[in-house]
Amino acid sequence: MIHSKTKTKPQTYHVKSFGCQMNVYDGERMAEMLDAQGLTPAADGVDADMVVLNTCHIREKAAEKVYSDIGRLRRDDGSRPMIAVAGCVAQAEGAEIKRRTKMVDIVVGPQAYHRLPDLIDRAARGEEALDTDMPAASKFGVLPGRPKQPRPTAFLTVQEGCDKFCTYCVVPYTRGAEISRPWDAIIDEAKALVDGGAREITLLGQNVNAWEDDGKGLHDLIRALDRMERLERIRYTTSHPNDMSDGLIAAHGDVEKLMPYLHLPVQSGSDPILKAMNRSHTRDSYLRLLERVRAARPDIALSGDFIVGFPSESDTDFEQTLSLVREVGYAYAFSFKYSPRPGTPAADMKNQIAPEVMDERLQRLQAQIVADQLAFNQATVGKRCKVLIEKPGRKPGQLVGKSPWLQSVHVYADGAKIGDMIEVDIVSAGPNSLAGELTGKKEAA
Ligand code: SF4
Repeated sequence: MIHSKTKTKPQTYHVKSFGCQMNVYDGERMAEMLDAQGLTPAADGVDADMVVLNTCHIREKAAEKVYSDIGRLRRDDGSRPMIAVAGCVAQAEGAEIKRRTKMVDIVVGPQAYHRLPDLIDRAARGEEALDTDMPAASKFGVLPGRPKQPRPTAFLTVQEGCDKFCTYCVVPYTRGAEISRPWDAIIDEAKALVDGGAREITLLGQNVNAWEDDGKGLHDLIRALDRMERLERIRYTTSHPNDMSDGLIAAHGDVEKLMPYLHLPVQSGSDPILKAMNRSHTRDSYLRLLERVRAARPDIALSGDFIVGFPSESDTDFEQTLSLVREVGYAYAFSFKYSPRPGTPAADMKNQIAPEVMDERLQRLQAQIVADQLAFNQATVGKRCKVLIEKPGRKPGQLVGKSPWLQSVHVYADGAKIGDMIEVDIVSAGPNSLAGELTGKKEAA
């Protein structure tokens, strides 16, 4: 399997996705496309004839990780699989990747991966295989239909790209302008996923709540999915505060299958920093928005994203972030140190924050977040809720599923299986998961 100029067409493949759920979704679509081309999945990268590294560009560490992963694909006998770099690093760095390492055969961006079969043929012929085009005609029209689903939960991308241009973010440059997929295509794909065994669908977009088609908004789409038989649960991520419509907030109040969970990034609690980030909302407008969401669905689990150490962030700015987190009491929150990204305005800003200051702030923020997450989980003890079984637990006979609030629940349920919706009483809570006891009620998959 030593690869000279021309390469053997691969028979087996391995797709490894990094980063966000949209990359996971793209990775699944690429795998389904390679299956449709007659290739078969290999257990892991080293054994595969071809490896697709579906990359994330959101932070420096993530981007650099690609090159170390590529290096690890060289086998002891010096041979290597055909290597394709896909995703946001492919889009951002393009031909530079092939200049940095001769081990890469294909570079393909997130809007062009429907052309992977053709790129494989080109690479096999030893020709240039690079495509970071953002074609007008969407890839979705070319991708094969969704097959039987390996899990009871599925992702469904409905919107891509972003027009917000937060000053620290590469997404508008790597994923392009906001595009909403057509209503019919989404409904058809949702039906195929449910026919394929999915009981829960998470609608995805970089700004999923900006989705719109022919005057309809995300809430209309959610209400249509709510009428879909055999679909039990609906979730959506990732949203922007400025696109939370009245219709979407109302849907949290009266759409039964819409789960009580909202991921709504804010990044900072300080207005001067929100301005410097070009977030186009204030601390106060964000908090008032959450009040309206909680009024519609009082038990909702709120989740957020935070960046510490954004250029010019003072101690006072950081205290504002901490106090916002305390005020909201998030069920989950993801927090990161600011990472300057090439080509973004913030990377050239003055007053970059020292790494040790970022470390100290991140520690303090994460301590608060973990405490709030534990408090949210402990408040669930004593509640009765439905759990969708997703996988076996670590202990014999144990199963793991998700609560409506997206918490992991460990339960012993004789006779229950993956895909079943079971009713449990929550009996104990830890920072990252809950323990439940079966009440006896079960809706089989
Ligand atoms: S809204 Fe999100 S994806 Fe868009 S630029 Fe801001 S951080 Fe990036």
